[in-house]
Amino acid sequence: MKKKIFIALIVVFGFINACSNDSDDTQTPQNVDKTPNLQATGSSANDFLSNDNFDRLLVEIGYVEGFQPTGQTVSNFEDYLRERTFKQNIEFSFKSLSSPDEETLVLDEIAELENENRTAYNNGTTLAIYIYFADAPSDGDDLDEGLVTLGAVYRNTSMVIYESTIRDLASRSSLITVTDVETATLNHEFGHLFGLVNLGTVPVNDHEDPDAENHCDVPGCLMRAELQFGAPTARSLAAKGSVLTSPCNLSGDSMLKLLETRTSSGLAAVPVLDAECILDLQSNGGR
Ligand SMILES: [Zn+2]
Ligand SMILES: [Zn+2]
Repeated sequence: MKKKIFIALIVVFGFINACSNDSDDTQTPQNVDKTPNLQATGSSANDFLSNDNFDRLLVEIGYVEGFQPTGQTVSNFEDYLRERTFKQNIEFSFKSLSSPDEETLVLDEIAELENENRTAYNNGTTLAIYIYFADAPSDGDDLDEGLVTLGAVYRNTSMVIYESTIRDLASRSSLITVTDVETATLNHEFGHLFGLVNLGTVPVNDHEDPDAENHCDVPGCLMRAELQFGAPTARSLAAKGSVLTSPCNLSGDSMLKLLETRTSSGLAAVPVLDAECILDLQSNGGR
């Protein structure tokens, strides 16, 4: 925990330096306090779920030009937020960004891009979340092993979606669409920001997979452990000296298999939260 606070402080000082060096940055006011948006993943779960501290949610989507989510995905994602939280005032803002021209991205680089491009921070009773749609794959991907990362969360209000990887994956199957993979990825990753499983929201009944931290052991659940492959990627990131790590790296191959299995059984492609996960959200202020 102490280490996390230390890291957060370094980041804060980094921001202060960046602000003082960049006096003509008009998009982010100089006096904005970014600290509440630089906390640990899952620590704002109650703020997302309930209206106690924030009654408005602002979702800023920063996308590399040409890599934005489909309109249907945004609509599905909004439905999911309204279904599980008490927020009624939910707004989206979209910002087109130039490509960082990287072959792969580590989370530290993604956080740097967020620092440069994010304009939405908590303000009054507005809770802000930033989602970056990248045009390059995660550095942790292992193509030989068939392990590719679709998305990750790395702070309380920060998420990355590897859009180029999602499109590659969806193009390999005639049964599923880009919208299916985008929606499943967004909803799963946002499940972690809701504090699932045991990541800021205390489980009512124990259903955390003993072999996969912060994931659910109920078959068919959106937060099911088989969808992720956290450990090897976390190790490879640490080996590269990355400061930020994610509790989740959503696996492309297992996602593809799951969506295909559901579609061919006549189910909706995108899995939903099971009763245990929903019970946890309700116990922490959600629906
Ligand atoms: Zn996960
Ligand atoms: Zn579950």
